[in-house]
Amino acid sequence: MEPLISIDKLRVIYNQGKSNESRALEETTLEIFPKEYVIIYGPSGCGKSTLLYSIAGLQKPTYGDITINGRSFSKMSKKEQLELHQTGIGLVFQAFYLIPSLTILDNVCLPRVFRGERHSDRERDGIQALRRFGIVEQADKYPSQLSGGQKQRVAIARALINQPKIILADEPVGNLDSESARNVLQILKELNEVDQQTIIMVTHNPEHLAYADRVIHMRDGRVIKEDVNKDKRPVEAKKDVVMVKEESPETQELNVLLSSFKSLLPQQVDVLLVPFKAKQLLSHLLSELNDEQVSMAETLVREVLFKNIDTEEMKNRLDLPYEKGGGGWNKIRAEHMAERVDRMLEQVKNLKNTPDTSVPPLARYFEEMFHLNINEERRIRLQSTLNLRVLSKIGQTETQKRLDLSFAKGGVGLNKQTAEKVSRELEIIMLLKYS
Ligand code: ADP
Ligand code: MG
Repeated sequence: MEPLISIDKLRVIYNQGKSNESRALEETTLEIFPKEYVIIYGPSGCGKSTLLYSIAGLQKPTYGDITINGRSFSKMSKKEQLELHQTGIGLVFQAFYLIPSLTILDNVCLPRVFRGERHSDRERDGIQALRRFGIVEQADKYPSQLSGGQKQRVAIARALINQPKIILADEPVGNLDSESARNVLQILKELNEVDQQTIIMVTHNPEHLAYADRVIHMRDGRVIKEDVNKDKRPVEAKKDVVMVKEESPETQELNVLLSSFKSLLPQQVDVLLVPFKAKQLLSHLLSELNDEQVSMAETLVREVLFKNIDTEEMKNRLDLPYEKGGGGWNKIRAEHMAERVDRMLEQVKNLKNTPDTSVPPLARYFEEMFHLNINEERRIRLQSTLNLRVLSKIGQTETQKRLDLSFAKGGVGLNKQTAEKVSRELEIIMLLKYS
């Protein structure tokens, strides 16, 4: 696998030869691979932005070269450079750089205005991008009417409108409150994980580091070390790397949970847990909806888990049409969903508040929810299996096995699909409980 971006002995000196000469970047060599999420981290003034703008082609190297997709900047024609800027790279800045006199929708569509395509095509894509980031209701407003977090989501939508392969973000949440920051960081994470986009983000905030696959540490214009959270590079590129030791999670409980949710890294537990929970809960509850319906619902479930709204409001908003910023679901489905979430959260609450007596009601919940129809003996087996899982004595696989195994062989004797559904739902409940 070839690197997507190769930085070869790059140096940047501002005002070279003048009295105010500033050596922003000492010799830097770096490779970035497709689908990686890389964070460039270091204190103010260490050269992070200079490196990022060099990759964007906005800052000319004083020495050295940069190659993107096998094409070196030094050999690119003007036309190729323009093409790269228009469709190859999306840029997101700390200051959002929205145009105050244009509506939100026009701001988002701006990068496509000069491409000679139909107005309606452009607007359709613009609306879709706004919807994805939960800001479609703002389409006709002007930037001054939006909060900082909303503006940054607009800026991200704009950066994505030409479907670039690479997203470069310079301190994108530097000006946002922590809640909006988390929201924007989660969007970037999703773009990487779901849309497989390559992301390079600059930050000086250590709390952000867990989001990335790889962290490049800079100091005084140099790369001083590199940490790998999740290695996406080909084997031959993995030399000379300082691996971050995965911190051993304090509790047995968390370990067991992590084995059920493999894409969750221990380092992500603090920062990503709520959005992650929302995603898991949702993908568990609905498998038959389209992407848009799911992404709006995900936003709403997230809000419920953050306790910004209750399930009643979630229900009402799921039921609203897309055009009004809702989920575009029908009423019956929205009600069903709200009730499911409510009942699951009730189990979560019981497990948290009254752990000693929570298993019998939990067993009852599963019996009702999955129409188990079992006799007293098997009910006791069910309770003892649930109890083992709740105490983290066994994990999901073992739980499922015991639920599935026939009564004669010591199991509960549910059918295979039901055993799988029950054990999966129990994992979600355990995940929701963990906080
Ligand atoms: P960071 O993004 O890590 O804060 P920068 O890349 O912006 O760092 O800056 C690195 C160094 O280069 C700093 O000392 C800064 O003062 C200097 N610098 C940045 N941009 C310019 C410029 N356009 N002209 C002169 N010096 C600059
Ligand atoms: Mg900077």
